[in-house]
Amino acid sequence: MNQYDAIVIGAGPAGSTAAALMARAGQKVLLLEKSFFPRHKLCGEFITPECGKVFDRLGVSEKMHDAGAQIIRKWTLHSPEGRSLEVPMEWITDGHSHAIGLSRARMDLILLECAAEAGADVRQGFQVSSNFQSDHGIGVVEGKNESGEKVVFRAPVILDASGRTGVFAKSTLHDDELSRFHGSRLFGCKVHLRSIEGMKGIGELFFFGDGYGGLSDVEGGKTNLCFLTTEATLMEAKGDREKLLDLTMRSNPAGSARLKNAVIDGEWLGTGPLKYGRRRRMPGVISIGDAGAFIDPFTGSGMLLAFTSGEIAADVINRSFAEGVRDIEEISERYESIFRSTFGLRFRACSMLRSLAFKPATRNFMVSLLSRHKSLMKIVALSTRQNWQSLTD
Ligand SMILES: Cc1cc2nc3c(=O)[nH]c(=O)nc-3n(C[C@H](O)[C@H](O)[C@H](O)COP(=O)(O)OP(=O)(O)OC[C@H]3O[C@@H](n4cnc5c(N)ncnc54)[C@H](O)[C@@H]3O)c2cc1C
Repeated sequence: MNQYDAIVIGAGPAGSTAAALMARAGQKVLLLEKSFFPRHKLCGEFITPECGKVFDRLGVSEKMHDAGAQIIRKWTLHSPEGRSLEVPMEWITDGHSHAIGLSRARMDLILLECAAEAGADVRQGFQVSSNFQSDHGIGVVEGKNESGEKVVFRAPVILDASGRTGVFAKSTLHDDELSRFHGSRLFGCKVHLRSIEGMKGIGELFFFGDGYGGLSDVEGGKTNLCFLTTEATLMEAKGDREKLLDLTMRSNPAGSARLKNAVIDGEWLGTGPLKYGRRRRMPGVISIGDAGAFIDPFTGSGMLLAFTSGEIAADVINRSFAEGVRDIEEISERYESIFRSTFGLRFRACSMLRSLAFKPATRNFMVSLLSRHKSLMKIVALSTRQNWQSLTD
């Protein structure tokens, strides 16, 4: 009864994608999610053009559109010194000429429903515990359902898609992955706004002293504001949100102009400290999306990584099962090898760009160099989202 081919923990973009694609291939899939959807989620809610291809494959593009997704054709980066750079979305389109802005509340619900329609057994309000065991090659996942009852499920394949702070985060994090700016840990904040003018068709990123923040429209006439800043700044603001905006977004002249008439329309969400990079492997489990690796959000490729890793995992598992291979370690090795060749360059490129973007001298040099050499800027933009092979083709 509680035996499945695969159990997926977490119904974010990575988990729902993998669950939908495995269920479609005829696997008996269980998708466990601790929240009840729709739920708000801290994220820039900037969905890059490549994700549109995944929506096409999942058959949910029309639903995203009907949910009020806003079309974004251009991404503009503003330095605190008043310089700016424009990245047209067609550079990274992969067949889709635009990015979209849609709340995670809407997007994640559509993906979860897609997994359920594909035949996955979806249980919301189910909190998986970190007491994972492997019994003769079969993973044993336990947790509590919405009534607080302990339930145990078993499957040869367990996918951890529970995100950055998910179920096995404590045991899989490398100490050196803690990201800091001048020794201070980094945190993320998000809120929805109204009355932001001039955003139609564009997304914007504003750098400031110890972080950066993005603005992009989502459904219902709202604009998402999401930014990263240090613990030191959060402590200086002492819980005063207006002061926090003065210390961060409004310290960038273009950010200040954009937020002039802003009206807060939603709850503030916070997360952190943020830890970039790959996680240690959890034996008996394949980790996908942020649970496997967290990429710097300023490249806007976090969700792309989540979708792509979900697709790769589902494909590897479906093929392995078709060949009669059900050993998690062997399936995991197959997944890891594809993951490394797909994402290795992206992680290095994002890490390098992050260190350049945070120093005023290198940031100004980069902005003036890249604004003069569009082809170089295109290569830099592509390096954050493709593998080396496709860049040199
Ligand atoms: C500040 C910030 C801004 C960002 N902005 C962008 C952006 O604009 N564009 C972009 O592409 N990416 C962005 N990202 C990255 C993006 O949010 C993540 O990469 C993406 O959400 C990862 O998806 P996921 O499916 O791996 O995990 P998640 O989306 O985190 O989903 C994990 C799911 O697992 C569930 N879960 C957790 N623990 C358990 C448990 N014990 N039992 C059951 N369920 C559990 C959670 O409830 C959640 O629904 C941003 C990230 C940050 C921090």
